[in-house]
Amino acid sequence: MQLLNYIAGQWVPSRSGRTFRNLNPADTRDCVGEFPLSSAEDVALAVEAAAEAYRSWRLVPAPQRGEIVRRAGQLLRERKEELARAMVREMGKPLVEARGDVQEAIDTADYAASEGRRLFGYTTPSELPNKVNLSFRMPVGVCGIITAWNFPIAVPSWKIFPALVSGNTVVWKPSEDAPLCANLLAQILQEAGLPPGVFNVVHGDAEAGEALVRHPGVRLIAFTGSTAVGRRIATLCGELNKKCSLEMGGKNPLIVLPDADLDLALQGVLWGAFGTSGQRCTATSRLLLHRDIAEHFLERLCAATQQLRVGNGLEEGVNVGPIINARQLERIEHYVELGRRQGARLLVGGHRLTEGEYAHGYFFAPTIFADVTPEMTIFREEIFGPVLSVTLVDSLEHAIALANDSDYGLSSSIYTRDIVAAFRAIRDLEAGITYVNAPTIGAEAHMPFGGVKATGNGHREGGWTVFDIFTEWKTVYIDYSGRLQRAQIDVEQ
Ligand code: NAD
Repeated sequence: MQLLNYIAGQWVPSRSGRTFRNLNPADTRDCVGEFPLSSAEDVALAVEAAAEAYRSWRLVPAPQRGEIVRRAGQLLRERKEELARAMVREMGKPLVEARGDVQEAIDTADYAASEGRRLFGYTTPSELPNKVNLSFRMPVGVCGIITAWNFPIAVPSWKIFPALVSGNTVVWKPSEDAPLCANLLAQILQEAGLPPGVFNVVHGDAEAGEALVRHPGVRLIAFTGSTAVGRRIATLCGELNKKCSLEMGGKNPLIVLPDADLDLALQGVLWGAFGTSGQRCTATSRLLLHRDIAEHFLERLCAATQQLRVGNGLEEGVNVGPIINARQLERIEHYVELGRRQGARLLVGGHRLTEGEYAHGYFFAPTIFADVTPEMTIFREEIFGPVLSVTLVDSLEHAIALANDSDYGLSSSIYTRDIVAAFRAIRDLEAGITYVNAPTIGAEAHMPFGGVKATGNGHREGGWTVFDIFTEWKTVYIDYSGRLQRAQIDVEQ
């Protein structure tokens, strides 16, 4: 199946005619489609279309822009099952999770649409008589959006819907590992009534992504992906003086204290570590387990992990889908090998699955390492696969110190019934998100989302905070005194 870019309301191939193939990771004999491998020329066409459309889109009243996004949410609702199945086919997560991914976009559409009737600014008193001070949120201009593959509908929607409601126009470079979902979302936005050029999709890899970052007509880059690529983008944006928001990697800790509901904690670890095959920025990758409960808890955790059903995400009962591609599978193997060599103790998994139903896909057995120390690579680096590191701790303070001994700071979790311990963890964990008695995954669309340290650069998507990314403030002073009033100078003391 040949698929196309979406530029100025038209479906078009890349100028060069180059393409790439996208394969089903559960069965690589199934080619999902052939997509344009775009270059700077294609990006330029899309940016020109977006710049032209911006001239009128910015003047459409925000509640009307919101209505179009609301319709997109309604279409997502109607096509939820179709989208979820396409998602499983191209990136592998189990169907129930794929439905959740679409649902998150529906929730985001509802929230963003309603923000069209708020976009609150501030009015303040003036320090001078007969003068009024106001402030408005203004759109930024053409926004370049670059996204990862692991939440192919949800994560783009976090950026695209608020960007559009705020009055911006968009050029989106989706991941080369989830391009079909991007085209489905573009169809939906087209059908919802967006004028041509307001939203554009340019497929491709790093070449197209970097061309988008460099294009002088793009005023803002919103990126979700790895920390390495995010740093490169931030450097370019710094040089070019562009607004830039980054959502990057994680190495998320989950603490279990002896007083916790251990059955609940066990379920949380399983879902946090192995949901989406551990390929989530918020995946639980470090279990910090209190020594007093370690032996029994680990026994049960290993037994439960071995019960997880690995397979094609479209099949009933599958808990863990495939790994996204061959490169990532090799990366996971590399980390497992490093774990072994550096002295961690492999408890379960640690190998590819290649026989029978796994023969044509990229599958890896859910894996747990014990005796992991903070010096080990598997404690420090994001693996982005179904690999959990376990480190024993002696106290809450010890657990928090180890949790914070990381370059990253996205999500974190603590299981305890002790309210004092919970509040200490909330206060002291260096992370953008802390869950109490819930795993490290489970963000809700109406709350701020993002991380500290190497995970982000100070912005938060989700809820009301995402509008700080996609708007600029305009401050307005209206003087109706009929005379020259000089702020700071003419104030009577
Ligand atoms: P990636 O960094 O390899 O790619 C992300 C996107 O950037 C892709 O669209 C890719 O084509 C593009 N890209 C690559 N090089 C580029 C360059 N030089 N210039 C411009 N664009 C470029 O990430 P991935 O493998 O797709 O996704 C996995 C990563 O994403 C993990 O690190 C994960 O933690 C992170 N992630 C973070 C969040 C979050 O919200 N914090 C959410 C999901 C995923």
